[in-house]
Amino acid sequence: MSSMLEVEGASGGYGPVTILRDIDMHVDEGEVVVVLGANGAGKTTLLRAICGDIRTEGRFAFEGVDLPRSPEKVARAGIAHVPQGRGTFAEMTTDENLRLGAVTRSDREVRADIDHWYEVFPRLGERRDQAAGSMSGGEQQMLAIARAMMLRPRLLLLDEPSLGLAPLITKDLFERLGRLNRDEGLTVLVVEQNANLALDIGQRAYVIETGRIVATGAAEDLRRDDAIRKSYLGF
Ligand code: ATP
Repeated sequence: MSSMLEVEGASGGYGPVTILRDIDMHVDEGEVVVVLGANGAGKTTLLRAICGDIRTEGRFAFEGVDLPRSPEKVARAGIAHVPQGRGTFAEMTTDENLRLGAVTRSDREVRADIDHWYEVFPRLGERRDQAAGSMSGGEQQMLAIARAMMLRPRLLLLDEPSLGLAPLITKDLFERLGRLNRDEGLTVLVVEQNANLALDIGQRAYVIETGRIVATGAAEDLRRDDAIRKSYLGF
């Protein structure tokens, strides 16, 4: 059986500048896969390449079908992207942001879905009428994830969800992501600087250096790798 997401022989970049080279990777249904790498390694660029947001070459396939090279079409295919910096609308309330997340849907279950995400993230329910921009970093990150989930994606791409969050809030966020993966069967590809936490919920990881994948393996094997430990795990 083919993987949910398959990337083969891919490269990509910005205008004439190529950042990603020779990328081969896959994400299977039900997995949490982590992308590790130093600042500037190309992690954000990789997510943007999958979304068709930048110039790419090579094969990008989702559920066996070549992915269109435009962010709107990739979203419609079932891949939601939570970019670094979260991408919520600061002036709009929680509820408005969630409704906007469902703007491409024409079914009648939008309200029920919003209520479901208020159950998953009770803090959001308490702040349904509060402007997103006035909420804490952790609340805004939960809102960004819930908003992305309003698309009913089958694959969630998350770019540095812990950025700017206090350690305890980050831990809580990753526990919630782990639960979404276990309880709702959500498949996740997550870029994360906090490798320890990410590998706690991830089954596999890819390590990127200067736009190339230099290591990959099961989370527990990467944890035991001395070079990976020194560079990314800090012990
Ligand atoms: P970080 O952890 O710091 O977010 P990253 O691994 O996500 O880093 P990218 O943001 O993907 O790294 O950047 C990879 C390279 O691409 C960097 O050299 C960066 O300067 C370059 N780059 C990023 N965005 C653009 C852009 N819009 N135009 C040109 N170059 C870019």
